[in-house]
Amino acid sequence: MERVGHGEHDPATTIRVRIPAKINPHLAVGPRRPDGYHGIVSVMQTVSLYDTLRIRGAPDGPAAHPSSRRLMDVSLTIDGPGRAVSLPADSSNLVLVAAERLMALTGIGADRHVDAEGAAGANAPFVHLHLTKRIPVAAGMAGGSADAAATLVGLDRLWGLDLGIDALRDIAAGIGADVPFCLVGSTVLATGVGDAVARVLTRGVSHWVVGIDDEPLSTADVYAAFDDLPAPTPTEPDLVLHALRTGDVETLAAALHNDLQPAAFALRPALVARHAAMLDAGALGALVSGSGPTLLAL
Ligand code: ATP
Repeated sequence: MERVGHGEHDPATTIRVRIPAKINPHLAVGPRRPDGYHGIVSVMQTVSLYDTLRIRGAPDGPAAHPSSRRLMDVSLTIDGPGRAVSLPADSSNLVLVAAERLMALTGIGADRHVDAEGAAGANAPFVHLHLTKRIPVAAGMAGGSADAAATLVGLDRLWGLDLGIDALRDIAAGIGADVPFCLVGSTVLATGVGDAVARVLTRGVSHWVVGIDDEPLSTADVYAAFDDLPAPTPTEPDLVLHALRTGDVETLAAALHNDLQPAAFALRPALVARHAAMLDAGALGALVSGSGPTLLAL
């Protein structure tokens, strides 16, 4: 995170947050629970593929930005390659969902009123968010969750809330299962629905080729297809954790595992040949990333 400050009394402070995508070298999925979720045990790791969120605070209010009045005077614009351009910048976007949660829980903006002319109350937080999306959308790399996490840490800093990691994690968990991980990043063992994360040791660097599919795959559809397939044999993360701890890429390649891969292959059969092509081309190992359809080659 970087603050591009303009001096103590200049309200137009800009904060830039770079937030990485995640991969799952190990993903074991349990049966559907009564609440509809699946318990998982997963090794999650951030990679050097980033979205960037630029947060600009301007307490001079919306008059300075008449075209960008949205949710509680927090506005959002998006650019980036591929499907990023068609991603809605409305209240369904996880950036605005996160901003709204933070404001609701802290009371920021609660005393703000907007009159018919659009003039905001004196304490109105007016914030413009600009998201540059490079993480592929609906691709199993937690891009939306990363953006939500970036919003939480960026606004916490902009508004000087200093909520601390525990409070931010609680808010994050209410937004989505991967958001708590995106707050801490690095490499973790994730349990629960993926929201309980514990950092693990790693050594060395691994290099991945990310094979991005043109068409998205819905996480919900992949889990539904998973439910229709025979339950997988339980697989432990121990070998992946050992390989990461020792920096042994050959062992890591042999241990890569994703219980959602058969479901992703069933829904997107073209992935089978692409996965084989990655191995033919010399990858040490390859697997579907999360719920897919992105393929990862080590
Ligand atoms: P995960 O790996 O956490 O299951 P994913 O990588 O498969 O997620 P995302 O890119 O996070 O998928 O997108 C999932 C859905 O969330 C998409 O349907 C998308 O329209 C919606 N969404 C909302 N906000 C965002 C955002 N800022 N970036 C990406 N997707 C978003």
